[in-house]
Amino acid sequence: MTDTPARAGSDVLVLGGGVAGCVLAARLSEDPGRTVRLVEAGPDYGPHLHDWPDQVRNARALPRGDVWERNTPVHRIRGRILGGSSCINGAWNTWPPGPDLDAWARLGGPRWSEEGLEPYRLRAIDRMRLHAVPDHEISAWSRSVVTAAAELGYPEVDMGAPGGPGHGTPLLNAVDGLRWNAAFAYLDEEVRARPNLTVLAGATVDRLDIADGRVRGVVVEADGRRETLVADEYLLACGTFGSPAVLLRSGIGPAAHLEAVGVRPTADLPGVGANLVDQPGAFVPMAPTDELNASLAAKEATGDLYVNRTLVRAASEYCTDGSWDLHIVPTAGPPLFGKLPPGQYEAGFSVLVMKPVSRGRVRLRSADPAEAPEIDPAFLTDPQGRDAAVLRTGLGIVERLLESTALKHLAVPVPGQSASGLAAQDLRGRLGTYWHPVGTCAMGAEGDPMAVADGAGRVRGVSNLRVVDASLLPTVPAANPQLPVLAVAEMLADVVGS
Ligand SMILES: Cc1cc2nc3c(=O)[nH]c(=O)nc-3n(C[C@H](O)[C@H](O)[C@H](O)COP(=O)(O)OP(=O)(O)OC[C@H]3O[C@@H](n4cnc5c(N)ncnc54)[C@H](O)[C@@H]3O)c2cc1C
Repeated sequence: MTDTPARAGSDVLVLGGGVAGCVLAARLSEDPGRTVRLVEAGPDYGPHLHDWPDQVRNARALPRGDVWERNTPVHRIRGRILGGSSCINGAWNTWPPGPDLDAWARLGGPRWSEEGLEPYRLRAIDRMRLHAVPDHEISAWSRSVVTAAAELGYPEVDMGAPGGPGHGTPLLNAVDGLRWNAAFAYLDEEVRARPNLTVLAGATVDRLDIADGRVRGVVVEADGRRETLVADEYLLACGTFGSPAVLLRSGIGPAAHLEAVGVRPTADLPGVGANLVDQPGAFVPMAPTDELNASLAAKEATGDLYVNRTLVRAASEYCTDGSWDLHIVPTAGPPLFGKLPPGQYEAGFSVLVMKPVSRGRVRLRSADPAEAPEIDPAFLTDPQGRDAAVLRTGLGIVERLLESTALKHLAVPVPGQSASGLAAQDLRGRLGTYWHPVGTCAMGAEGDPMAVADGAGRVRGVSNLRVVDASLLPTVPAANPQLPVLAVAEMLADVVGS
């Protein structure tokens, strides 16, 4: 590895070209008087008509090519590509309940409220081309589950807007099977042609060089070379696992941990890497009947087979405010992991805990940027056992859905794997994730020792550094976070730009 001298400065360096990074780079470069560089560790496959890998374009499956780690526990999966995890995700978009946004506004100010974020929600919906699920993409299984949910009294709701518990369909950023990722949406040909915007792909951020409470430059590694990039302002958008890792390597974090891994502390912020929260879930497998297998095969033949297209938002006994804390997602199609013979499919329900109280953490194993951080989601570890209780309530709702005649002819419980059987088991060994981690560089109120940043994303004690991605969210919204992250990034672009 060779070092090269600092490159000429720009006004803004956006570090991490994922969902939030693409928004910030596009919005801030709308001002021709501002120079913006976007730094991304993964590849840039160009504007959307260029040669993107089929598996990234294909919204029918979750790709595993451009990721940070292969053969890793599933909760660690995240995109390493321009567009970030929007290039590898389920393309579902839903909006949080009002109380979640009220809680954010109490910490970050009125811009974070439902009202404050509303113009940005609409802006993001427009830019990402979010739209309702086309009817022909809904399988017999997904459709029958919402019929059963209606029988249980769940009303139909708009999942992409403020509302309450109910059943419905998410908004999709997928058009005719093409996953419309954040790079397509925000970095189209016209944006890329701006002379004041540069995309530096294949460049991994090692650390920030901090002196006297300011960032003086950022050390990046590209093509076996290290160089220091300089700017007036630095926006950190490396995601919930990447952003705390960059801060920790830069000496910003819990001093004792930094010393233990050989990093000289520059700002003692104990909240960096703490407060990791992700939404755990359990899968209840069902045995599809011949009727359902035939119906799914017919959908596959016409190219209309999507594993999940509907959901139920439900409230457990812990959720009393007109909100919800469970997603129940019917799934039917090819298995997510493994293979089945042609004409046979997997069906079932994913039951997801949307407002877990357990907290995990991200820590460095070493100061080497090539070494992946330690990521502990700490699923179902809260001492009161509340998260497990919420999950069990969700499994109970699945049992009630299965009593509906709408479902009986489509699938039957797998012996030993029924929802009530799972509820009785120790659930820890069966957990999966919704892949919605947030919170590791949380914003918070003045005086909160665990707050890493304020409501404008400004990192405490470092004057020209902000965090702008999912790691900034102090609590996980009871939603799929992509749309909230997009809306928050749109809002912060206005804050930075003003
Ligand atoms: C498998 C999967 C499925 C999901 N499904 C959905 C879904 O259906 N709906 C939904 O709402 N959400 C979903 N999510 C979550 C959603 O994708 C994230 O919430 C969202 O992408 C967060 O945006 P972000 O900008 O914070 O991070 P990301 O989009 O992950 O972007 C971070 C970027 O920073 C880059 N980076 C990291 N470290 C460095 C470094 N050191 N140097 C340079 N670059 C770096 C990464 O390569 C990446 O491009 C899913 C996530 C996964 C992994």
